[in-house]
Amino acid sequence: MLKLMTYKICCTSCHKASARTLDFRCSSCGKPLELRLDFNFEPRLVQLKNYSAWRYARFFPYINQNNVITLGEGWTSLVEFNDSLYFKLDHLNPTGSFKDRGSTTLISAIHRQVKQHRGYVAEDSSGNAGASIAAYSARAQLRAKIYVPENVLGPKINQIKSYGMPVVKVVGSRSQVAQKAQQVEKGKFYIGHIFHPLFRDGIRTLAYEIAEQFNWKTPDRVYLPVSAGTLLLGVISGFRHLVNSGTTKKVPTIVACQTKQVSPLYHRIRKLEYKAPKKVTSVADALVSTSPPLLDLMIKELQEIHGDVEIVDENEILNAFTELAHRGFFVEPSSAVAYAAYQKQLRNKETSKADKTVIILTGHGLKTKLQPTS
Ligand SMILES: [Zn+2]
Repeated sequence: MLKLMTYKICCTSCHKASARTLDFRCSSCGKPLELRLDFNFEPRLVQLKNYSAWRYARFFPYINQNNVITLGEGWTSLVEFNDSLYFKLDHLNPTGSFKDRGSTTLISAIHRQVKQHRGYVAEDSSGNAGASIAAYSARAQLRAKIYVPENVLGPKINQIKSYGMPVVKVVGSRSQVAQKAQQVEKGKFYIGHIFHPLFRDGIRTLAYEIAEQFNWKTPDRVYLPVSAGTLLLGVISGFRHLVNSGTTKKVPTIVACQTKQVSPLYHRIRKLEYKAPKKVTSVADALVSTSPPLLDLMIKELQEIHGDVEIVDENEILNAFTELAHRGFFVEPSSAVAYAAYQKQLRNKETSKADKTVIILTGHGLKTKLQPTS
């Protein structure tokens, strides 16, 4: 007999359980919610003939399989770059970023409820998540309003609008954009990807894929860029689930990579004071969360798994971006941050070429406004 897959959506602070999948924060204390999985990952339940993130459908028990909204996301290639260094090509997802893993999960879970209320969803984003939520809403024939900072320009805005979704530009900081998106309006359901636990939970599939692509062995180190923390927390959750289930032996050393300008996590972990710039001008324009609401959770999770942090400056990012492109990997500068951090740690002998390492390439180069230098 199959074991029932059970789960709970709970507050990360007061641990109160939430009954509604549409809740994006705790109804008693307002803190972020998280998914608690009360079942094991079992490789035999992977649907081997499904070549998308939905090969792991059995491990998402809160989604009715008839309600899945998919654009064929996930099961992205893991490419060997050199001897022990691999790139996970998550920039090749349907909207050009890893965010599609979160969007397919969240929109699949909630689209029927929102439609029953004749409502629409609201999301705030610096670009990639907005484009992703817009695309999956379009696929679900659901309306989505995307709130962005006024300085978001170019390909990302065009992408959101092309999916037929309205863009609301908000003057002020990134958190003011979030406030505006959360403002109560008739028919509006706020599903901001930074807060919503089901978006973050969808990122679990990235860890499952890396482990499966290595035949259920985990690599030594995984480098990923960190801004609001959805990628970091989702990947940690996936690797921990595999270890807790006895599928893999260890959680890899996760290296959270940030820009010098936007590095609140790095500074808190290293117990250094962080002064956020008045205006973020980094070429890594997807990494803008100077005061991320999930910071305490990121610190707790990263410390529990003995993860690492690294920061890189603008020159290091540009060099990494150029080197990746000159080797055929065209990614956003924000994705190049992880490769830049890896190179920095190699130079500083904080890692070695003998370590089996995965760098997650998160966003497509076609999204960048950056002009080639030569
Ligand atoms: Zn609470």
